[in-house]
Amino acid sequence: MPGPVRAPGTVPAAAFTPAPPARHHRAMSHELVAYLGVMDAGKSTLALQYHHSLGGKGVVYTSMDRGGEGVVSSRIGLSHEAREVKPGFDIYDDLAATRPPYVIVDEVQFLEAPKQINHLADAVDGLELDVYAFGLKTDFLGRLFPATQRLIELADRVEELPVRVNCWCGERGTHNARLRDGVMVFSGDLVEVGDMDSYTVLCRRHHRAGLA
Ligand SMILES: [Zn+2]
Repeated sequence: MPGPVRAPGTVPAAAFTPAPPARHHRAMSHELVAYLGVMDAGKSTLALQYHHSLGGKGVVYTSMDRGGEGVVSSRIGLSHEAREVKPGFDIYDDLAATRPPYVIVDEVQFLEAPKQINHLADAVDGLELDVYAFGLKTDFLGRLFPATQRLIELADRVEELPVRVNCWCGERGTHNARLRDGVMVFSGDLVEVGDMDSYTVLCRRHHRAGLA
């Protein structure tokens, strides 16, 4: 239906709404991508593979890798130096100062939430960087890590880690379990220094039943 006729060159004030910014005003579309999964699903290996295939000139952050401070180590033997993210570290400021071509974050579940995850999103939007974050989805109690939760809230995309890990029953392993002397335990801090416990991956059914 045609609108009301009005004199040429006039626009009723109430009808005027500014156009939203067009997407093509951004030179490229940048994104925050989360790669989440269970232990042993190739998280650090994939992080290092991305770093290599993107040219190796980006920054790699990690937090509390089992291989030590300032290193990303994978179970298949690859390792690479990385910038250690500690509590209170301002990732956005660091990226604003260094302006790397892309950002890789391993062990993202250990970052401070929500602050350091907000920094990652701010870096995508404010500094126009691509940020690829790799981490565990849930802890040994089956709960989202706070940083992982914030990452899921902010990510442009959430992807599964590509390596399938099976429960002992053959089903897809979806949950991390903490074991002490071979028995599943449900207590203790998320991160235990000098942790003597071991971990395994179970399907939901056997995680909920406590059957490792
Ligand atoms: Zn199972």
